[in-house]
Amino acid sequence: MPVIGPATIVAGVTSSAGNEAGFNTRAIHAGQEPDSLTGAVSVPIYATSTYKQDGVGGLRGGYEYSRSANPTRTALEEALAALEGNGERGARGLVFASGLAASDTLLRAVCAPGDHVLLPDDAYGGTFRLVARVLARWGIEYTPVHLSDLDAVRAAVRPSTRVIWCETPTNPLLGIADIAGLAGIAHDAGALFVVDNTFATPYLQQPLALGADVVVHSTTKYLGGHSDVIGGALVVGRSNAELGEALAFHQNAMGAVAGPFDAFLVLRGIKTLGVRMDRHCANAARVADFLTGHPAVARVYYPGLPEHPGHDLAARQMRGFGGMVSFTVRGGEEAAVKVCGLTSIFILGESLGGVESLIEHPGRMTHASVNGSPLEVPGDLVRLSVGIEDVEDLIADLTQALS
Ligand code: PLP
Repeated sequence: MPVIGPATIVAGVTSSAGNEAGFNTRAIHAGQEPDSLTGAVSVPIYATSTYKQDGVGGLRGGYEYSRSANPTRTALEEALAALEGNGERGARGLVFASGLAASDTLLRAVCAPGDHVLLPDDAYGGTFRLVARVLARWGIEYTPVHLSDLDAVRAAVRPSTRVIWCETPTNPLLGIADIAGLAGIAHDAGALFVVDNTFATPYLQQPLALGADVVVHSTTKYLGGHSDVIGGALVVGRSNAELGEALAFHQNAMGAVAGPFDAFLVLRGIKTLGVRMDRHCANAARVADFLTGHPAVARVYYPGLPEHPGHDLAARQMRGFGGMVSFTVRGGEEAAVKVCGLTSIFILGESLGGVESLIEHPGRMTHASVNGSPLEVPGDLVRLSVGIEDVEDLIADLTQALS
């Protein structure tokens, strides 16, 4: 009896010339063959919990129960594996009900009580909360560490270190970590190296090719891209087939899977990922330039700015610098909170990565759960998720809010 559907070991898409197809071709076609029954070009939403068996154990296509596998979910898992695995055959994708469900499934699959996890000292607050307030109660130990300082990471490794968890760029301070350097440290220590690639997406950054063992996503963000779905994903490379099996076992055994409609929405979003990311990057670069030197702004955090400490590294390991920009406001926390309430195109709201621009105050919103911890973010910080609207309108909106 298969634990998962049969098609989650991914083949890439081959172009008519016989070569591995490019990123955007894979985004539109990998895992998304027209429906075998009707020829439907969009993968159907298979709203079914169970499947007729042709005799006991006679599964059609390997499907028996939708927690274990569902064809809409399989299509998304194949598409993600083809994107993060860079078309490499054998990469495996698994999708979940949220980014945190994906992270939780991964950490519980690979860690046992007494194991130690290294986390970025400016990790996404929800990831820190999961480790510090949920998994720590079950015996997981953890240390927040500044990931852009490889010596500090080496010094923080213990014999019990099981996972080095990386985010790059980080949320919300847009720090950049050296993926290949950290992979080397993790593997020397016998630890698993995990990269949360939510901010960059596989279009801008390919952690598996740089040595990561597992890539994590909140598909809620750029992969979905339209602020209409919550979802998460894990992708492992072909050299980690055994780990892929273990994660698939836990996906089914723990049950935090993505429903078929959610999988459909993310799949639809992925088709336009490349063009959206190009526009997000171009708009964010213009917004970061505008904020730099603005009299009401104290500091701008954007890896595309040459003065950003991680700029050269980001230029080497990323195709573009992403759509997120953070900045601190002169006048302190109250001034930052005020700016967040004064924009009209930038919508005041949590989350990121949708086509519409969002503004938020991390200290009181997305990162409130880390207040009082080593991960506390500056009170005068504002975070922007720069959308794909006309950039002149975005700059005009920020101009009036900052004035
Ligand atoms: N990772 C990062 C970098 C995030 O920003 C988020 C959510 O904001 C998550 C993971 C968690 O994802 P979700 O909200 O889909 O559970």
